[in-house]
Amino acid sequence: MAVLQERRPMVAGNWKMNTTDAEAGDLARETVRALGDIAGTDVDVVLCPPFVSLTTVYETIAGSPLLLGAQTLNAAPKGAYTGEVSWTMLRGLCTHVIVGHSERRTYYHETDEDVNKKTLAALDAGLTPIACVGERLEQREAGQAHAYVAGQVRALLDGVAPGAIREVCIAYEPLWAIGTGRSADGPVAREVAALIRGVARELCGEGAEGMRVLYGGSVTAANAAEFAAQPDIDGALVGGASLDAAAFAAITRAFV
Ligand code: PEP
Repeated sequence: MAVLQERRPMVAGNWKMNTTDAEAGDLARETVRALGDIAGTDVDVVLCPPFVSLTTVYETIAGSPLLLGAQTLNAAPKGAYTGEVSWTMLRGLCTHVIVGHSERRTYYHETDEDVNKKTLAALDAGLTPIACVGERLEQREAGQAHAYVAGQVRALLDGVAPGAIREVCIAYEPLWAIGTGRSADGPVAREVAALIRGVARELCGEGAEGMRVLYGGSVTAANAAEFAAQPDIDGALVGGASLDAAAFAAITRAFV
């Protein structure tokens, strides 16, 4: 029998390569003002600024219920990896880290194996990985979306212990919906979210009922409620709209 579990919604803002340090501080301050009343109790709110502004945002949100995430990590603890940031540097500053974002997979050639290593390193470091999966438009049109996403989920969860699956968060982000203004519709996203949980259950057992699955891809204040209404979708990973505190707050409130 399935174990019913409450999954607190999570909304994460991926600021990508935007904001100067001063802008990051301002945006964090505005977001705390807009969401401080519900964050941490009704919803987990995670801000993911650029690496160079992690400390600024850490200090700005200190004492508020908002959480801090990084946009990627290196799975090695330290060493000769110019330009990289390891989990040992993030631990203590962040609680979350995005891994396998499609922009990292596409522009920096991160493979499923890399995403798996990063997921395991994040878990070992006590960070919640927000692992991204999603198909390209040609794959959806060829009827291959489900098989492709299931393969990505199997790869990223390889070696994740059943007891750790609740600490994992997976974001379904179809590539054709990211930054395009063309979001998936609610039922399509729900179907894939259910598939993701099914694969996690197959690999890691009933603990997968506690794993959060987010939708990401052109989420706005206008369409957030459609995703929030779908069982199996436990929140959102928001790119562009997270750069506007009011829009991000409206999206977040749709999930409460
Ligand atoms: C993202 O990059 O994770 C994302 C969902 O972007 P956007 O909301 O801008 O589509």
